[in-house]
Amino acid sequence: MPASTPRLPIIALATLMVLGLVCSLWLAGHMAERRLLEARAQEAQGQLDLYAQAIHTQVERSRAVPALLALDEPIRDLLQHPNDSSLRQALNRRLEQQNRAAGSTVLYLLDRQGTTLAASNWREPSSFVGNNYGFRPYFQDAISQGSGRYFAVGVTTGVPGYFLSHLVANAAGELLGVLVVKLELEAMQRDWAAQPGILLVADSLDIVILSNRPSWRFRHLRPLDDDILARLVAARRYAEQTLKPLPTQRLTTLGDGSELKRVEGPEGPQRYLWQSLPMPEEGWTLYLLQEPQGAQSQLAPRMAAAAVWLALCFLLLFLAQRRKTHRLEQYSRSELERLVAVRTAELRTTQDELVHAARMAALGQMSAALAHEVNQPLTALRMQLGSLHLLLASGRTDEAHAGLDQAERLIERMAALTSHLKAFARKSPAGLRERLDLLRVLDQALLLLSARIRSEGVVISHDLTPGLLVGGDAIRLEQVLINLLQNALDAMQDCPERHLNINAWREGGHCYLSVADSGAGIANDDLDRVFEPFFTTKPVGQGLGLGLAVSYGIVRDLGGNLEARNRSEGGAAFTLRLPAVELDIARSASQPTPSGA
Ligand code: ADP
Repeated sequence: MPASTPRLPIIALATLMVLGLVCSLWLAGHMAERRLLEARAQEAQGQLDLYAQAIHTQVERSRAVPALLALDEPIRDLLQHPNDSSLRQALNRRLEQQNRAAGSTVLYLLDRQGTTLAASNWREPSSFVGNNYGFRPYFQDAISQGSGRYFAVGVTTGVPGYFLSHLVANAAGELLGVLVVKLELEAMQRDWAAQPGILLVADSLDIVILSNRPSWRFRHLRPLDDDILARLVAARRYAEQTLKPLPTQRLTTLGDGSELKRVEGPEGPQRYLWQSLPMPEEGWTLYLLQEPQGAQSQLAPRMAAAAVWLALCFLLLFLAQRRKTHRLEQYSRSELERLVAVRTAELRTTQDELVHAARMAALGQMSAALAHEVNQPLTALRMQLGSLHLLLASGRTDEAHAGLDQAERLIERMAALTSHLKAFARKSPAGLRERLDLLRVLDQALLLLSARIRSEGVVISHDLTPGLLVGGDAIRLEQVLINLLQNALDAMQDCPERHLNINAWREGGHCYLSVADSGAGIANDDLDRVFEPFFTTKPVGQGLGLGLAVSYGIVRDLGGNLEARNRSEGGAAFTLRLPAVELDIARSASQPTPSGA
C-alpha cells in the first residue's frame, strides 16, 4: 500500500462534492419553484373560472333578449310595414326601454337586407337607424342558422362589443328580419383592471379581444395567414384596429392548461406562468398571466438540500476512512503474521544448525572411544587372519572355517557401528515425526558409548518397561540420550565406583526415562543454570555448555520436558518426559535390550 495518498483522487473527490452541491442546489431550487408554480397555477385556474363565470352570466342575460323579442307583435308589424314612420317611432322607443331594462348596450332591428329599421340608440348621433349591417357574420348566421354571435369592433361607434342576433319570422315561419343586441364588455374590462395578473380573452382566432391591460388588446397569439386577414377586413371585424403579434415561447409545461412561457408583451419580454381556460360556448379562451416570483421561497429548500448533500458527503467520507483504517489494520496484522512466520522459520533453521553443531561436538568427544572401538576388532581381525594362514598351510580347513566366521562377525560389528555413526552425523530434516520405541533409541545411544562404558568399568543397572512409544525424530532423541549418558560418565570419571542407573516407565499419558549417576552431583547454585546455553563447569576444550540447552530445546519441541535434580544418595539424576503415543496395532515383537547392559 502506498504511504502517501496521491493528490489526484482528492481533487476528483473535491470536484465531485462541489458538483454535487451545485446540482443539489439547482435541483432543490427547481423542484421548489415547480411546486410553487403548480400551486399558483391551481390558484389561477380558480380565478379564471370566476372570470369565465362572470362573462358567461352577462352574455347569457343579453342573449335571451333578442330571442324573446323576436316573438313581439310590434316588431313583426314593423317588419311587415317598414315604411310606416309611426310604427318605426313607436318601436324605437320600445327598443330603447327594453335595452335599458336588459342592461345591454344597443338593441336594434334589421330587415331582410340587413338595414336597421329601429334601434335603441335612435336619439344619439351614432344611431344605427338606416345603416346596413348585411355584411356582418352575425346577420348572415341568424338568417342561415336562426341565431348568431360575433365579437367585433363597432363600425359605427368604434367600440368593441359582442353581437348576439336572432331571426324574426312570421307565424308561417317566413323570414322577416333579424334582431340584434350589442353587448359592450368595456365596463367589465375596467373592473378587472385592479385584479392581479394579466387577463386575456381571445376569440376563436386567438386574437385578444378583452384584457385588463388595454395595451395587450388586439394582439394575436398565433400567426394569421393572408386569407384569414382578408376575411377579417371584409367583415370589418376589428374595424380600424391594427393587429399585432404576441410572440410566446413555451419553457415548461406544468400541468393541465398551465405552462411557463416567455412572452414578448408590450412591456418587453418576460417569463409568465401562463394559465388557460377554454369557453367552448363562445369559442373563446381565457388566459391569465402571472409573474413567477419564486426566488426567495427557493432559499430555504436550497439550504436544506445543501445541508443534506454535505451531510451525505461527510458520512461517505467517514465510512470510506473507516474502511481504509480497517484495511490498514488488516494489512498490518497479516504483515505481522507473515514476519512472525519468517522469523520463526529463521529461528528454526538456526536451532537446527545448533542441534547439529552440538551433535558434532558430541561426536568429537566420543571420537577417541570410537577409534578404540574400531581399532579393537581390527587388531583382532589381523591376528585372526595370521592364524588362518597357519591353519590353511597345515590343512586344518575345519578350524579355518570357524576362524572365518569369527572374522565375519567382527566385520559386521564394525559395519553396524560405522553406519550408525554416519546416520548420527547426518543432518536430520527439521520437523520429522515418527513413532519411536524409546528403548530402541536408548539401545543405539548405548551402542555408540559402549566402548567408553566398558573401558571405564561403569556398572549399569536398569529397570525398563517395554513398549514405550513416543513421537519424534530418532536421531535427535538419540542425541538427547547420548548427552545425558555422556554427562553422567563425565561426572563419574574421578569416582572410584561408577554406577549408572537407567529407568524407563509409563505414567498416565507420558513416557519417562531417567539417567542417574554416582558422581558428585550438581552444585545447588548451578541446578537452575545447567540448561542455560554455554553453561559448563568442564575445562576449556572439553565442554561447550550447549549439550543440555540443545537437549532441552529438542525435548520441548516434542511436547516433553527435561528435569535435573540431585539424588539423596549422591549423584545427579536427569528425567526425560515425553508424550506417549498409543499403539493401536499389535505391539512390535522385538523387545530391544540395552547392548551395554
Ligand atoms: P557440557 O557437557 O559441554 O558442559 P552440558 O550442557 O551438557 O554442557 O552440561 C552443562 C553442565 O551441567 C556441565 O558442565 C555440568 O556442570 C553440569 N552437569 C550436566 N550433567 C551432569 C551430571 N550428571 N552430574 C553433574 N553435573 C552435570
